[in-house]
Amino acid sequence: NRVFEGTEKTRERLGVVDELLCYWNLDDSEDTLEELEDALIASDFGPGAALTLVDSLRDRIREGEIKDQGGLKKELKKNMVGILESASINSGSGELAMSGKGLSVILIVGVNGGGKTTTVGKLSNRFAKEGYKVTLAAGDTFRAAAKEQLEVWAERTGATVADYPADMEKPNPIEVLKHAAEQSVEAESDSSLLICDTSGRIHNNFKLMDEIEKCKKVLSEVKDGAPNETLLVLDSTTGLNMLNQAREFNDYIGITGLVLTKLDGTARGGAVIGVVQELGIPIKFIGVGETVDDLQPFNAEAFVDGILS
Ligand code: GDP
Repeated sequence: NRVFEGTEKTRERLGVVDELLCYWNLDDSEDTLEELEDALIASDFGPGAALTLVDSLRDRIREGEIKDQGGLKKELKKNMVGILESASINSGSGELAMSGKGLSVILIVGVNGGGKTTTVGKLSNRFAKEGYKVTLAAGDTFRAAAKEQLEVWAERTGATVADYPADMEKPNPIEVLKHAAEQSVEAESDSSLLICDTSGRIHNNFKLMDEIEKCKKVLSEVKDGAPNETLLVLDSTTGLNMLNQAREFNDYIGITGLVLTKLDGTARGGAVIGVVQELGIPIKFIGVGETVDDLQPFNAEAFVDGILS
């Protein structure tokens, strides 16, 4: 079970929860709840998510709904699933919001090395199989050979990479995405999809954030080019750091969904609960390897079972 592998570090740290529960008794639950809150924070959940989870347990205990250790753990899991699922419910659907007909556009953003280009390839595979005519836009003009890397993914998945504008002097992501969107609109068939890669924004660098904001804007200015989804790729091995990244990207350009990558490693995926809790953005997919087939729709129950087995 790859999700299970990918939540290993969080689960190891949360091992302390089981220990805590062994000593837990109802008459003295406050100390245990405080220790539980510390354990959640130490496991990358972030203070906000930890507090919400523990407050809710405290209420249930007061109401007499939790009677034993098993009940406490079950309630904790239920609350984690609840946080993850409520974001999906609020956003309408767990799957991507594709246009019913015509062109759909997905903009992929995230910091360098997180797995954006790989995710573009995996999404291309998924939607080409569903019958979409897929075009990839090489908006990562910063990294050497990023376009060639996309061409390899396109080849593997039956997609094409949009040409650079003919008159472009120096590679410029804004012009590349604009041109790709215009080309896609012109060639639009019943179900075509443009997936836009972008370069690895250093999230605290204002200039780069400004550029990615312009990328989104320029797409939106092309008729039918406004992104259906703006997906933030988060590397699950980065732990709590992903909360800062998500805040920054969301503030600048508005994120509609998360893709959590590298869950097949010894990842620290639990931190994503804090991201979903604070920002209300749903996780759409998880990455569990480096090949085109290693993308799975997110399942909150399976994920939480991985974290708190
Ligand atoms: P980008 O800089 O954000 O475009 O990141 P890349 O797509 O180039 O990925 C960076 C590295 O992470 C590459 O070596 C990928 O093969 C690897 N990678 C991406 N997604 C996953 C994943 O889900 N699991 C594993 N194990 N590796 C991944």
